[in-house]
Amino acid sequence: MTCPNTHRCPIFPRFKTGALRVLRTIYCDEDFVRCARYVRISSGIIPAPTLLPNGSHLSGADSSRLDHRTTVGPAPLPSSSTPPGTS
Ligand code: SF4
Repeated sequence: MTCPNTHRCPIFPRFKTGALRVLRTIYCDEDFVRCARYVRISSGIIPAPTLLPNGSHLSGADSSRLDHRTTVGPAPLPSSSTPPGTS
């Protein structure tokens, strides 16, 4: 079963070729519940953008093109419709 986070996981697009493609097969496509990123997300923890499914990190040039501002995390809390101090 494919991971439900593939469309918003910042590191998933990097798994198209080479050694990283193996991680996609093992984790994203088949056993995402064992993915270190998925485990953290499920616990409400935003993982580092460079965290790989096996718990290691992308380094050097491999991580340079990752958008460190974009990551998968818990949904934001809804904002209050009443501004503080006006009720
Ligand atoms: S790296 Fe982990 S969280 Fe991201 S798509 Fe793959 S299995 Fe899901």
